[in-house]
Amino acid sequence: MLRRYLRGTSSALLDDGAAARPRDADEGPRLRRADTAGIRALDAIQVPLRGLAQLVFAERSEAGLLVLTAIGLTAPWSALGALIGVTFGSAAGYLLPTYTRAEWKLGMAGFNGAIIGILWGGFIASGDAQPLLLVAVLCLCVIVEAALKGLLRPLSLPPLSMPAVATAILVSLILAPAGTWFWISAGQPPLGTTGIYLAIICVLLAAATKHQAATLQASMLAVAAIWLASTLGFAPLHSPGLWAFAVAPASFAAQALLVPGALAGRVAGLLAAGLAAAIWFLWYLTGLMGVAQPLLAPFIFAAWLVLWVFRRHGHSVWLEPAFWRACLALARARLAGRSVLALTGGKFGEQLGIPDYPSGSWRDPELPASAYSQQRFAASLRCRRICWQACEALRERVQAVRASLAHRKLAAMGRPGLVHATVTTSVDGLQAGDAETETVELFGRLDTVTCLDCGVVQNWPPARVWQCWDLHCSACGGLLKPGVTFPGDPLPEAPWKRARTLAMGCSVLLVVGHPRRTPADEELIDAARRWGAQVVFINQGPVAHALRTDDLVIAAPIASVLRAFTWTLAVFRALDRHRKGISPETRTP
Ligand SMILES: [Zn+2]
Repeated sequence: MLRRYLRGTSSALLDDGAAARPRDADEGPRLRRADTAGIRALDAIQVPLRGLAQLVFAERSEAGLLVLTAIGLTAPWSALGALIGVTFGSAAGYLLPTYTRAEWKLGMAGFNGAIIGILWGGFIASGDAQPLLLVAVLCLCVIVEAALKGLLRPLSLPPLSMPAVATAILVSLILAPAGTWFWISAGQPPLGTTGIYLAIICVLLAAATKHQAATLQASMLAVAAIWLASTLGFAPLHSPGLWAFAVAPASFAAQALLVPGALAGRVAGLLAAGLAAAIWFLWYLTGLMGVAQPLLAPFIFAAWLVLWVFRRHGHSVWLEPAFWRACLALARARLAGRSVLALTGGKFGEQLGIPDYPSGSWRDPELPASAYSQQRFAASLRCRRICWQACEALRERVQAVRASLAHRKLAAMGRPGLVHATVTTSVDGLQAGDAETETVELFGRLDTVTCLDCGVVQNWPPARVWQCWDLHCSACGGLLKPGVTFPGDPLPEAPWKRARTLAMGCSVLLVVGHPRRTPADEELIDAARRWGAQVVFINQGPVAHALRTDDLVIAAPIASVLRAFTWTLAVFRALDRHRKGISPETRTP
């Protein structure tokens, strides 16, 4: 019976969604006052066509023509009904404030009326068109639409085609014996099965004008639903409600319209299709079919659920394609026995309230930055006091905190050998002290002091003795200074050379939590790229470094990305061991 209406009714519009952002939003107010009859005449044709296009979530008038053709091929009288309904809805949308002018121009006001018109095709075909009743039902649909839009606004959910579905079910329940009225067949398709196939092609073409990947996925899922329905004993061609009005539109709407992101959209489409099928089966199994046809209700409920879920959890790192590509790079590095290097700094300490060391934001802003340099330190007692003072203050802040979750997760990646070395621009020493992973601290460490003459490293002096005396090396008598390289001074040769060697030898460089660029890390990243490493930036905020096309960016909380790496690669290692037939006990470290 449901053969009359075509697949995928309804389109969405998120009140606040990007999909609703019109190409010609700023034309709205102008058009409201538009006085040229030419523009009005064009709108009078284009807006209803776009309303028909919205039945497959598309926006172009060509898509609307394809949809109209498809309806005509399956049920010509329903096509006439759709034209009447979309024109009525568009006219009402123009006069009423339910939709903004930009939404109206996209055809948002028309598609619910079109669905009512399609359903009315049976009456028109039977010769008892009941035009007054049609107008009354269309009016009711407009009222339901305005009410639903207002009700759903606080939840930020789009009404989709719920106004038409609710109106149809309501009218059929009020005016007729349950399930026998309103669902009049609009007759046999004029071209038979060929017409149905042609109609499906038209719908697919129309949907493809909006989103090709979503069209492909929705088609494949519709075929899967037909297969499932036939396996479970439902005559599939008599159940287009499942594949055409539940599974396919749910997948398409979620992927093309509701959930942004290539991978997230795909997953949302799969989830929505599964949910819509489940709701449809539930409708069937509970006997609700006898009371009212589900129409597009399973699709709508599934779309709302998926939208709700993805608004809360859609930013998960598991839905980032870059994350999976990075996992692949890490797995390849492991298989090839190549090393993985982490470059950290900035955000790692900033999360704990420690200023980013290379940026110099820990220095006294009242004093010139040039006061903090090794040359001035050696030459001036006043500068020595200034440097000791600032380093002591920073050291006290570091001492007050413990390693963050991100520090611990990076250390955890070192233990199974997922990260072989860490180069850091931090001076807090929080990443060091892990025996499994080599740590190179480019700017030194804040809890040590070094001799300017012989370079010997000692522990930080107790009790602010630097306030009263110059400190001297016990071995050679040279001046002692805090064990950090001041920003702007050349980096010590040994750690810098080691860092460059590590960068040139690694297969994957994880740049973790760098909110700012420093010449040092810029050069290390370039060195890694030149030697063929995959560079992966992990940072929730924007990446400060200049990106190349083959770089990967994972914009998510650092700790959650590192934890996800550890879990994913643990599975990979287990599979690899299984493949090689090695048990965990017998493997060599
Ligand atoms: Zn010395």
